[in-house]
Amino acid sequence: MRAAVLDQTAKLAIRDLPDPVPGPGEVVIAVSLAGVCGSDYSLYHGKFGVPLPVVPGHEGMGTVTEVGHGVSNVTVGQRVVIQPNFACWDCDLCGTGMDNICSEKVRLGIDVNGVFAQYVKVPSRYVWPVPEGLDDRTAVLTEPLAVAAHGVKVLPPAEGDRVLIIGAGVIGLMTLLLAKLNGANVTVLDLLTEHMSLAEKMGADSAFRVGGDKKPDPSSFDLIYETSGAPSGLSDAIGLAAPGGRIALQGLPGTEHPVSTTQIVRKELTVMGSMIYTDEFPGVLELLRSGRIDPRPLISDLIGLDDLDHVIKNFNAPDRFKVLVSF
Ligand SMILES: [Zn+2]
Ligand SMILES: [Zn+2]
Repeated sequence: MRAAVLDQTAKLAIRDLPDPVPGPGEVVIAVSLAGVCGSDYSLYHGKFGVPLPVVPGHEGMGTVTEVGHGVSNVTVGQRVVIQPNFACWDCDLCGTGMDNICSEKVRLGIDVNGVFAQYVKVPSRYVWPVPEGLDDRTAVLTEPLAVAAHGVKVLPPAEGDRVLIIGAGVIGLMTLLLAKLNGANVTVLDLLTEHMSLAEKMGADSAFRVGGDKKPDPSSFDLIYETSGAPSGLSDAIGLAAPGGRIALQGLPGTEHPVSTTQIVRKELTVMGSMIYTDEFPGVLELLRSGRIDPRPLISDLIGLDDLDHVIKNFNAPDRFKVLVSF
């Protein structure tokens, strides 16, 4: 099979690799579409410190071509999406439904070969059939939408809540769609005018540019989703949260930044982390099938495997949102 292989930092090579063979409980999927994500960019630049070579990519959908012994939840020929973090189901965290933070978790496209290849091998428990009538381009957005849905589950917005989303990238704008569905009034804060205008097109009630003349009022938001991963994200959120406000953190800054714990106490704020997802996939697939939200405006480019190195190298281009690799 053709695959994009990361065998040194900051260089993907297109190689021929042997097709994967399913072991017991595993399935092989012919990848139709694969999404490019910020964590692919981090991996590409060596931020994960995992052994190379590896085939990156974790956001994928396609058709089952082979099933291993004992697989009963999917059959050959079925269209499926992949849930790309495989927990151990043996530890205390997995036992209490916190499999998202299982320390034995195996990450597709980081710890094992991922979806930037014609075929990928996955445990069958981590593939979900695509409902009839749901197109491939929408279905491939299930994984990032599950990330946003987990944030909204951890701290749910209520009707009329003043919600602020810091960072209008893919996760931020998916959070926007979900918060609007709950009847919230949503403000978006981002560095880039391109991101702000898409936010407005996708239903934001207002949008502010970081460093612009117009600024959101301090202490004026009931609920804040920090999706930018900017080191100052939490500190900004603490200043902008209303008394009694709640803050969900989804970004991973990777560097320290001082925060005002005084304001957390005085305003009695709730601060929660939100890490990937647990059981969100079936609900997200059903939500997409229902057509109640449409995340497809986030798709900015459809590319071939040969263009992937160039796209990941220039990941932060301002007009780029979700790039899909088509096979
Ligand atoms: Zn992703
Ligand atoms: Zn576990």
